[in-house]
Amino acid sequence: MPTFSAPRTHSGQHETQNAPILTRAPATPTGRRDLALLPKAHLHLHFTGAMRPQTLLDLAREQSVRLPPHLLDIDPLTVPADSRGWFRFQRSYDSARQLVRSESAMRRIVREAAEDDAAEGSVRLEMQVDPTSYAPWVGGITPALDIICDEAKAATRETGVEVAIIVAASRIRHPLDARTLARLAARYAGDGPGEVVGFGLSNDERMGTTSAFSAAFQIAARAGLASLPHGGELLGPESVREVITALKPARLGHGVRTVEDPELLDKLIEARVAFEVCPTSNVHLGVYHDFSQVPLPEFMARGATVALGADDPLLFRSRLLEQYAKAREVFDLSDEALAQLAQQSIDACLASESSKRKWYGQIDSWLSSRPRENC
Ligand SMILES: [Zn+2]
Repeated sequence: MPTFSAPRTHSGQHETQNAPILTRAPATPTGRRDLALLPKAHLHLHFTGAMRPQTLLDLAREQSVRLPPHLLDIDPLTVPADSRGWFRFQRSYDSARQLVRSESAMRRIVREAAEDDAAEGSVRLEMQVDPTSYAPWVGGITPALDIICDEAKAATRETGVEVAIIVAASRIRHPLDARTLARLAARYAGDGPGEVVGFGLSNDERMGTTSAFSAAFQIAARAGLASLPHGGELLGPESVREVITALKPARLGHGVRTVEDPELLDKLIEARVAFEVCPTSNVHLGVYHDFSQVPLPEFMARGATVALGADDPLLFRSRLLEQYAKAREVFDLSDEALAQLAQQSIDACLASESSKRKWYGQIDSWLSSRPRENC
């Protein structure tokens, strides 16, 4: 079992209120508590990739579209991390996205993602979306984002999960498109439900020039939006360095391959950059051969702030809760270590301080509760 360092927090302000987790740990009853009841924040989930498989089938039936076999498979998509593998992933994602052609479909995706997160103990969902793809069906990118933000507000009221939005530009589109999206995102900026909290950059890490997106991220930063790009997934430390220099992230989408350069990892930890680690996605996209190779223990041992995420459960058939459950099994994590991970996901989220305080207290209560199974 890996040895973990003492928990550190994303913001020094939380250290006092998190202290009870540490100080009470020795007296905590040992055993395995229900991870679905552990409050956690879900910070890496893509809009179309969040769709329930049944919703995909319903949308296909409504539109009389025959789904390609790779989307009908009950087996999760698994592809090598080479360009052909990524192409297959992208094609699957695009096939699913092409079915999202109405306001009602868009609202359904947001609402069901919040419901599914609620069932897994998520208290905060920051969902990434590039509204460009849905714009033609609802009258433009502004109405597209408006619908998503509005439904995020409604879903927050109905499920109790705070749903906020990250507008993400695509590496395979022109950097000028990214600027347009940044200006749009800025108009919806805030930290509450249904507001835009950050600006991202997604898609194939090997495409595009990272620095060409700096201007878009500067527009977002001026509006108070956090920088939340992908990086260090398909490429290693060199790509992470480019992302750090050009985009100044508060969190890195994936970032797992930063461990290949321990000095760089320490530098990012020192700079309080958090990592959105999506183990199942990494395995299914061939970044790692299996779950045990995902460097979660290294991140934890060095004191990094980690938020586990599902990325695209529609394609990988594995949601947020399974990331925690498999991490418990594969890395033999104690309930204290799992609570520490959940706490870090709250540290790294962009919710208000009052919401965070409430959730830290709930994590503390979870850890003080009697375990369901003793071990
Ligand atoms: Zn992603």
